[in-house]
Amino acid sequence: MAKRRLLTGDRPTGPGHLGHYVGSWENRVRLQDEYECFFIVADFHVLTTAHEDTVPIRDNVRELVLDYLSVGIDPTKSTIYLQSLVPEVAEIFLLFTMFVSVPRVQRIPTLKDVMRDLEIEVAPLGLLSYPVLQSADILMVKGEAVPVGKDQLSHVELTREIARRFNSLYGPVLPEPEAIVGRVPTLPGTDGKAKMSKSLGNAVFLSDDERTVERKVMGMFTDPTRVHVTDPGHVRGNPVFAYHDAFNPDRAEVNDLKRRYRAGQVGDVDVKWSLGQALNDFLTPIRDRRRGFASETGLVDRIIREGSDRARSEAAKTLAEMKRAMQLDYYGSAAVQSPGAAGQSGRSREGRETR
Ligand code: ATP
Ligand code: MG
Repeated sequence: MAKRRLLTGDRPTGPGHLGHYVGSWENRVRLQDEYECFFIVADFHVLTTAHEDTVPIRDNVRELVLDYLSVGIDPTKSTIYLQSLVPEVAEIFLLFTMFVSVPRVQRIPTLKDVMRDLEIEVAPLGLLSYPVLQSADILMVKGEAVPVGKDQLSHVELTREIARRFNSLYGPVLPEPEAIVGRVPTLPGTDGKAKMSKSLGNAVFLSDDERTVERKVMGMFTDPTRVHVTDPGHVRGNPVFAYHDAFNPDRAEVNDLKRRYRAGQVGDVDVKWSLGQALNDFLTPIRDRRRGFASETGLVDRIIREGSDRARSEAAKTLAEMKRAMQLDYYGSAAVQSPGAAGQSGRSREGRETR
């Protein structure tokens, strides 16, 4: 039997961080053999919050793909692709916008978070509709599983609604995907804010060097009620311990630190020092692999080109199926055929002849 499909991805807005890893990437690596995986580098999505300055996107795309490779995403098993190289997604998005009301997208909690965090006063239409574009990303490859952080659950729910609506109107074409939330649903930021995020300046990046990691850890927000080492400290809600729980494999050490912290028998500096060690132990092999992949000339470009061709041929198939179901295929499909889909059907040739 064919493997089930999985789709997820990230915006190329900056380097990958520990939150990405525990929220989604770890699951991707784990599920690569079980599912047929598609990982989208969502460059159109960058424009929803930063359309004026597009220059950094190109480098960020490359860095993100290197991050993927360094954590163990394997392009020989999985498809890594660039959203803007699959224009079919925009057409699928357009069809989906008919099924979603404006108040429905306004209610999505991430919209308010993004607007607050980035100090956006009035949402552009593109930002408002970005979860609908994300639905198109998922459904264009008929994704059934979506590993995401907890913040994205509402988007997967919208995707399910869209799929149900489409299927009930036109027949069963689209799957209803399920979210797979990571082992840490939301990793807090180094500043104690609820979510580590690239755009909040509170992230430990997978590509940070050892000294940077140590510095960031030493500067971390901790229990603000604690003034002296002998004050009993709070472990719950303390990001230093959230990171220990997520990344320190030495459970005995973590439990001992927690006990002594609560009892006022260990200082923040010691707890942070051992966290810095644990994080660097975790990151060292990732950094090493990254260096290796970065030195291979042309590797990233090749992965993106090949992956995008493949994703595009899947998207073209889904779009054709959707239009057939909607009886919108009266003139065949558009003239220019995706490279991957070439020769698969006579439909587009017919389309070209009618023009
Ligand atoms: P940006 O600031 O550009 O929005 P981000 O750091 O919030 O970046 P996204 O690209 O929005 O990251 O998220 C990519 C994926 O990583 C999503 O599935 C998201 O849920 C997950 N993710 C991001 N940050 C965290 C976090 N702190 N904890 C858990 N999962 C996270
Ligand atoms: Mg985000």
